[in-house]
Amino acid sequence: MNSIEKLINYHRLELEEYKEVLSCWKEKEIQEKLKKEAVKLRKNHYGTKVFPRGLIEFTNYCKNNCYYCGIRRDNNHADRYRLSKDEMLECCKNGYDLGFRTFVLQGGEDPYYTDERMVDIIRSIKLLYPECAITLSIGEKSRESYALFRKAGADRYLLRHETANEEHYGKLHPASMSLSNRKQCLYYLKELGYQVGAGFMVGSPGQTLDCIAEDLIFLQELKPHMIGIGPFIPHHDTIYANEKAGSVELTLFLLSVIRLMLPKVLLPATTALGTLDPFGREKGIEAGANVVMPNLSPVKNRKLYDLYDNKICTGEEAAECKGCLSRRMEKIGYQLVYERGDALE
Ligand code: SAH
Repeated sequence: MNSIEKLINYHRLELEEYKEVLSCWKEKEIQEKLKKEAVKLRKNHYGTKVFPRGLIEFTNYCKNNCYYCGIRRDNNHADRYRLSKDEMLECCKNGYDLGFRTFVLQGGEDPYYTDERMVDIIRSIKLLYPECAITLSIGEKSRESYALFRKAGADRYLLRHETANEEHYGKLHPASMSLSNRKQCLYYLKELGYQVGAGFMVGSPGQTLDCIAEDLIFLQELKPHMIGIGPFIPHHDTIYANEKAGSVELTLFLLSVIRLMLPKVLLPATTALGTLDPFGREKGIEAGANVVMPNLSPVKNRKLYDLYDNKICTGEEAAECKGCLSRRMEKIGYQLVYERGDALE
């Protein structure tokens, strides 16, 4: 049996087999086949439901210096902001009234938000909206901090591993950061009972198909509940300003591969995908994704959470974004559903 058939039937491959699958990503026939199987599998588990997550980008201060990221510490052109707790609660209220039942608090690694402040924010949201899930995406912390946030009511945590290849990791991050710590964080989060999300950028500088095969092996072992992948998009104030953006087609191919590898995984059609292609998110859903993450951040701050150039949906109110996405999903035969959308066991 070849690797494609094996992936479709057994949902698990060895490194060399993933390399073989990846070597055919440009073949239309194989793209179509994987897409069809991925959608079939996703429909078995989730039907035509798409889960919206309300994204609250609450700070663009960051103590890290990831080379690809527009809000890296050393970018002194970045106009920095922080949301107060009241502003964050206002975003949640707005989101709740629109039907959102998951709030994703994402930010740079901002020391202003001490554990104490984060715990207070998480508790306050949970008290007001006990039936909603709280997802954090605030980077690498100690096991103790993760435990405190979990106890305060956080349910999920997104921490993309970015790349599972050491050498590649070193091209994307300064020496003060390490792949081993990032992986360790993911294992801590799992132990603490979070629903965990990992993931990587497609086409980040220096990435090869072999790197992606290693990403797939890492994900297959970690078995996260969620996997965020989106194309790399250059940001004008980084050393990678002149690099090429990642491929939409390859991202779609990988969404299908990941759906086949982990049939029940929660898989967003990302904003980065929608940024590179006007129908990127629709195409993502049609390749096997089942999550979208519209923005609930105050419109005045939207543009400032500037990870990469030309990010979409930075001008509209949350209600407009929801309406637009909802119509887009209906058009392709899917529905946004207003439930927590926990990972299936
Ligand atoms: N500080 C948090 C959140 C990071 S931003 C953390 O460390 O997890 C969320 C994700 O955006 C990152 O994990 C990265 O994969 C993605 N990202 C950053 N810069 C990007 C770029 N230039 N193009 C595409 N995605 C990018």
